[in-house]
Amino acid sequence: MAASVASAGLIRNVNNNLAIFYPKILFHQVHRRCIIRRICASRPKSHSRLKSKSAPKELTGVVGLEIHAQIHSNSKLFSGSQVGFSAPPNSLVSFFDASLPGTLPVLNRRCVEAAVMTALALSCTINKISLFDRKHYFYADLPAGYQITQQRQPIAVDGTLTYSHMGGTKRSQVLTKTVRIKQIQLEQDSGKSLHDDHRSQTLIDLNRAGVGLMELVMEPEMSCGEEAAAAVRELQLILQTLGTCQGNMSEGQLRVDANVSVHRPGEPMGIRTEVKNINSARFLARAIDYEIQRQKGVLESGGTVQNETRAYDSKSGETVPMRDKEDLQDYRFMPEPNLPPLIVYEDNTLLPAGVLACQAVVVEGVREGLPELPSIKRDRLVHTHGILPEHSFTLVGEDGLMDYFEAVVKKTKKQPRKVIGWVINELLGHLRQQDLSVIQSPISPSALAELLEFHETGHISSSAAKQVFQEMWKSPGKTAHQIIQEQDLQMVSNTTKLHDICQRVVDSHPEEVQAIKNGNKKVLNKLIGLVQKETKGRADPVSMRAILEEKTSS
Ligand code: ADP
Ligand code: MG
Repeated sequence: MAASVASAGLIRNVNNNLAIFYPKILFHQVHRRCIIRRICASRPKSHSRLKSKSAPKELTGVVGLEIHAQIHSNSKLFSGSQVGFSAPPNSLVSFFDASLPGTLPVLNRRCVEAAVMTALALSCTINKISLFDRKHYFYADLPAGYQITQQRQPIAVDGTLTYSHMGGTKRSQVLTKTVRIKQIQLEQDSGKSLHDDHRSQTLIDLNRAGVGLMELVMEPEMSCGEEAAAAVRELQLILQTLGTCQGNMSEGQLRVDANVSVHRPGEPMGIRTEVKNINSARFLARAIDYEIQRQKGVLESGGTVQNETRAYDSKSGETVPMRDKEDLQDYRFMPEPNLPPLIVYEDNTLLPAGVLACQAVVVEGVREGLPELPSIKRDRLVHTHGILPEHSFTLVGEDGLMDYFEAVVKKTKKQPRKVIGWVINELLGHLRQQDLSVIQSPISPSALAELLEFHETGHISSSAAKQVFQEMWKSPGKTAHQIIQEQDLQMVSNTTKLHDICQRVVDSHPEEVQAIKNGNKKVLNKLIGLVQKETKGRADPVSMRAILEEKTSS
């Protein structure tokens, strides 16, 4: 493919600001003067291998992920151009993004802070000094012929990501695992090549060129698609909570490459393939599991796995070799001469004379701004409200649901353990059915709380409460009180009315009554059901049972 930016002829509306004029340049000039000291972070020792002399073990999968997360920032990593997903092609391109000679990179502090915040949330060691490098490759959507990345010294190393998934015999157990994060590096995104098969040409859109990315490299410590998908979902949630990446996989804000190999536990790791083009956690799981099975098949039939890049085809559910990266690439890494070492300071006391906190990235300041992380939220929910861990996952995993739940809990005397069923089964069930988000719910937390209060205080039965919920869903704005009045749903308690209904049921079912008198107590449930039917589910279960027991006792 020979298309170049010029021949594609699509560059228009180029932003006239030269990156070099941006006031942010001060940021680097300050750093340039500082002493460079390489900080070597100690890495945890690799796991000791299990040694076994017994029969060869089964082949098992090994998975390591490389994740590109688009940093949520208004402007690009080294230029002031805006970042936007659906802007017209080449409308968000500065001279620097198009690699015009004479333009220089100017580091965006917001991107550095986002990387530092992400690193802190993942318990990484932050390198006080990190370095930028050029990684060369020739591709139409990379106008400079190189990408600025952090190859020698990334901004952060040695973190962990703890994630959970359902497992155990009945898949009802929450299994929690941890994968180590080798490093987080800052780098530029490339542009996009748009292949127009009809006219057999390739067009280039540079809107994405130069957008800031965090690349997170994980150690090969997962073993199947489900684990990898759970780790990605947890990371996605963390990034969204931090606000450092919007994490929408289908819009390419979070891109996952899966490295997959198989080996027998205790033996050295096998040759890996890298699976690309995965745009959802579900497809990630499928692609990995397919690849593990494929590699097992290759080895078991005496073949060898090729170290290659493969693409996942979501239609066939298979991975296929990618043709464009057959040979090993030499990226000719070299230090980026136009960017000084990036220095971050632990706290304000370490700032060099004359440097203001607002001109530098201060780790302590970023740490203070860390929001409550998903794992902490879940622990808090379990401890404060006594709900099940799996329910805490649902609450935290669905945008806005935790706040909704806590708002309901505040307004009702119903125990949180009972509120949770209403929020997860009724509310979330209805929302999902209609593909709505929590903020779009037609029933507000206080409206639901009012309904639950009527149930809690014995004004309505469970089945009537469900009926009211349905009605509230259908007619937004109507209160539980109104619906109960309109449909006459109040509980029928220990009243003459309930006695009369019970008497009628007993009189019309002599055989059942005899069976109960003969000791078959189970038959009572049939009569209970009939009374409930008569009362449209409004009978108070306790008084109803008592009345029926009395009327059927010999
Ligand atoms: P390279 O420098 O060749 O890219 P890295 O050590 O950076 O290799 O690893 C790249 C990714 O590949 C990491 O996410 C890592 O976890 C994963 N990886 C490395 N070896 C294996 C393997 N044998 N099987 C599966 N994944 C692997
Ligand atoms: Mg690598």
